[in-house]
Amino acid sequence: MDRTTPSPSRRGLLVGAALTAVPSALFAGTRAVARPQAVDHPGAAWHPASRANYTPSNRPRAHPLHYVVIHVAQTTYAGTLSVFRDPGKKVSAHYVVRASDGHVAQCVRETDIAWHAGNWDYNTRSIGIEHEGWVDRPRYFTDAMYEQSARLTAAICARYGIPRNRAHIIGHHEVPGSDHTDPGRHWDWKRYLRLVKSA
Ligand SMILES: [Zn+2]
Repeated sequence: MDRTTPSPSRRGLLVGAALTAVPSALFAGTRAVARPQAVDHPGAAWHPASRANYTPSNRPRAHPLHYVVIHVAQTTYAGTLSVFRDPGKKVSAHYVVRASDGHVAQCVRETDIAWHAGNWDYNTRSIGIEHEGWVDRPRYFTDAMYEQSARLTAAICARYGIPRNRAHIIGHHEVPGSDHTDPGRHWDWKRYLRLVKSA
């Protein structure tokens, strides 16, 4: 599937043109303007994970994408971002969704392999979405969180041709070899799939 972000060659052309057109002192400013293009999901805020917590790749060329893996973080939104920033944690996910308003943070580019599934094969073939909250505290699973997460999953499925069904939109507990229970029994899969299909 084609990516929705500008291709590297076009970005290269723009930077090249900027270099010839403006004094070099302004180059830093040009780069800052280009930065919002770093996210794959429109409206997501870029909160990069430590480079020590994921594997650079060029998916979907290197590995076709077959799954979206749904997680519950067992901590807050801010706590999750801080874990992903910590190079000692050796863990990351592509996205984190906030409970209060459904705000989406992107921490790893979709081209790259986040370390979220606890299974290398599944990591290579999936996008991981963390949700703020705890498996035994369903009040964290707000309407806004379900709606924005479902929009994100629907967009990922559209980008990579992933079927919008439970065989391909799976919980962490369904990853072979996983000893995790998330998203847990309070996660409303019926509702989530309905939202993904109607997004
Ligand atoms: Zn998980």
